[in-house]
Amino acid sequence: MSNKNVIIFDDVRYCYGEVCAIQNVSFSIKEKTLTVLIGPNGGGKSTIIKLITGLLKPGKGNIVPEESAAIGYVAQNPWFDVTFPMTVNDMVLTGTLNHKVKLYNKYTQPQKQKALDAIELVGLNGFENREISQLSGGQLKRAVIARALSSNAEIIVLDEPDSSLDAKSTQELYEFLNQLKKDKTIIIASHHIHNLFDIADSVIYINNEAQEYASPIELEEKLKGGMAI
Ligand code: ADP
Ligand code: MG
Repeated sequence: MSNKNVIIFDDVRYCYGEVCAIQNVSFSIKEKTLTVLIGPNGGGKSTIIKLITGLLKPGKGNIVPEESAAIGYVAQNPWFDVTFPMTVNDMVLTGTLNHKVKLYNKYTQPQKQKALDAIELVGLNGFENREISQLSGGQLKRAVIARALSSNAEIIVLDEPDSSLDAKSTQELYEFLNQLKKDKTIIIASHHIHNLFDIADSVIYINNEAQEYASPIELEEKLKGGMAI
């Protein structure tokens, strides 16, 4: 953990037409920490994640960095057609491409190695040549995470990564992310807080506005006091 801020939100607002999903949102995230964005459904977690990745631009306020090229993003829902004929290895390899995904791209040996390393890291070795349509929900999620890891991204953002995982896979994923934060900055949006309290360095509660907590324990006290999640 260092003291360098890698993400800063300064009084950010984002509205979908008339509906302002988030407003007055200010927080900062330090390098090589694990931050959890927590809060009720519809609170604005996915909106903040999309602002971090640069998919959305703020209507008001500032976000650092402005250009978010070096961010690995694991979306809440698959952004691709899971029936598309593509193996685990093919999909993870696309993560090594920096910008445009070209079909039938020729990958270099280092790119191939990176993809294999990422597949191993998420525990999908042996599944490299399996079609993605033949994976369980949890395996597909891990393949998507491997894709994010195969890039050079310094920051990995995961939106509800536990949504299609059973309890054991969730535990394994969190243990893995807890290790990964030695090298990378990790941001997880979730409304399943309890598994995350042990590994979070900081917690940001989001319910239209954001409230930053120095420690998970501080938030836990508030929740005991009846705050909604
Ligand atoms: P969370 O991820 O915490 O469940 P979201 O960021 O998905 O919250 O949603 C925050 C608010 O923004 C909700 O009221 C939701 O209905 C609204 N919203 C999200 N996406 C859109 C969209 N594409 N168009 C209109 N409203 C949206
Ligand atoms: Mg969401």
